[in-house]
Amino acid sequence: MTDSYSSLTQIKGDIALGKTTVEKLVKGYLDKISANRRLNAFNEVFKDEALINARKVDLRIKDGTAGKLAGMVIAIKDNICYKGHKVSASSKILENFTSVYSATIVDRLLAEDAVIIGRCNCDEFAMGASNENSFFGPVKNYADETRVPGGSSGGSAVAVQAGMCHAAIGTDTGGSVRQPASFCGLIGLKPTYGRISRHGIIAYASSFDQVGPITKSIEDAALLLEVMAGTDEYDSTLKDIPVPEYSKNIAAPAPKKIAYMQEALSSPGVDDEVKNNLVRYIDKLRADGHTVKPIAFELLDYLVPTYYILAMAEASSNLSRYDGVHYGYRSPDSVDLVSTYKKSRSEGFGKEVKRRIMLGTFVLSAGYYDAYFAKAQKVRRMIREKTEAILKEYDFIMVPTAPEPAFPIGKRPKDPVVTYLADIFTVQASLTGAPAISLPSGNNTKGLPLGLQLLSKHFHEQELLNFSRYFLELQKI
Ligand code: GLN
Repeated sequence: MTDSYSSLTQIKGDIALGKTTVEKLVKGYLDKISANRRLNAFNEVFKDEALINARKVDLRIKDGTAGKLAGMVIAIKDNICYKGHKVSASSKILENFTSVYSATIVDRLLAEDAVIIGRCNCDEFAMGASNENSFFGPVKNYADETRVPGGSSGGSAVAVQAGMCHAAIGTDTGGSVRQPASFCGLIGLKPTYGRISRHGIIAYASSFDQVGPITKSIEDAALLLEVMAGTDEYDSTLKDIPVPEYSKNIAAPAPKKIAYMQEALSSPGVDDEVKNNLVRYIDKLRADGHTVKPIAFELLDYLVPTYYILAMAEASSNLSRYDGVHYGYRSPDSVDLVSTYKKSRSEGFGKEVKRRIMLGTFVLSAGYYDAYFAKAQKVRRMIREKTEAILKEYDFIMVPTAPEPAFPIGKRPKDPVVTYLADIFTVQASLTGAPAISLPSGNNTKGLPLGLQLLSKHFHEQELLNFSRYFLELQKI
């Protein structure tokens, strides 16, 4: 990684010593961005604006009025609205759309003096796990440029990985913060559903969508979480639970009970080095006094089908607003209302998005609703109940974040189901709403980053962060 700072605390230290300024930092990131254009991490860089804002933050630091995030230069995924800026969801249908308001999280980040340097490439409407579904082309993994960075927040992860910003904000519907973080050697946190406002996030599947930070340190993840979290009159799904100062409360954890999924070690679909990596950590944790036990999760095979039925159903409904009439792309060949709908949507959406709209519409249609959508909702409840029962007995569930490390660009089999199955370990937290974090756990023999995921009880982010910081220390042992 080229940005030598792993936490905002270090940056603040250097600013206090006069060794750097926010303006200098932004200039450094902008240089990195121009030197790494080939990675395709950004859809747009807010160059002049970032410099102006950096100078303003420098002044506030001088007069002692700066916010918590002063010195933090971040990138946002291009499905997060920022007033007066374009937001495309990496889709042709929104290519020239300018947001008329900011997401609540953007307002909160700016209020604490974060500088937003640009908007990052992602899978179209956040649908994907490799960033290959973007209208603006794939993003390259900085660890191996022939490989994907993961997705859908692939650009956000690479922006941090290659030192083009200090941290990034992604969204996670079924793993889109955690899986790219693991492919890029970073920390990716998906908070509890209901912790962070979704207002101003371009909706994919509303009962799953969550905002999450991608960072190089637990302290930064904690800080970004505490700034973004909390009730918002524009999102009624938020829970009115006080937001702790996560970053100030990080403490060493007492011995914990950790369950790991047996299937992660026995399944032929999981890469051998990924399995060995999990075993290594199981051993380290046991040696350090924690209880680590295998569990069988009998609903494992239902996780991916349940997630995809529900996510596609919600997507088909959410994406009906892109009709060529209200906003976004309108086909120049439209002649009447119906052809405006048909042609604008056919030309504006990419292949994967169309597939999901069609499947989602199918599972919601009369005659199939009960067989697919209603059944999937029942299975979702069972998955949640089973997961909660495990978490009554254990503090965390540990699995690899993904069954294999970053794979080569353009080499996935044509069958989309193969790609969907790779979400097996991340969708459990999405289906249940539980918080989960992906932590870097070393590299494989090819030098590709690996990641392990910890899942905990609803609103137990502090426990998750505490244990995560300790977990990262284990790497050194
Ligand atoms: N890979 C999953 C999907 O395609 C998750 C994407 C996400 O979290 N946005 O739906």
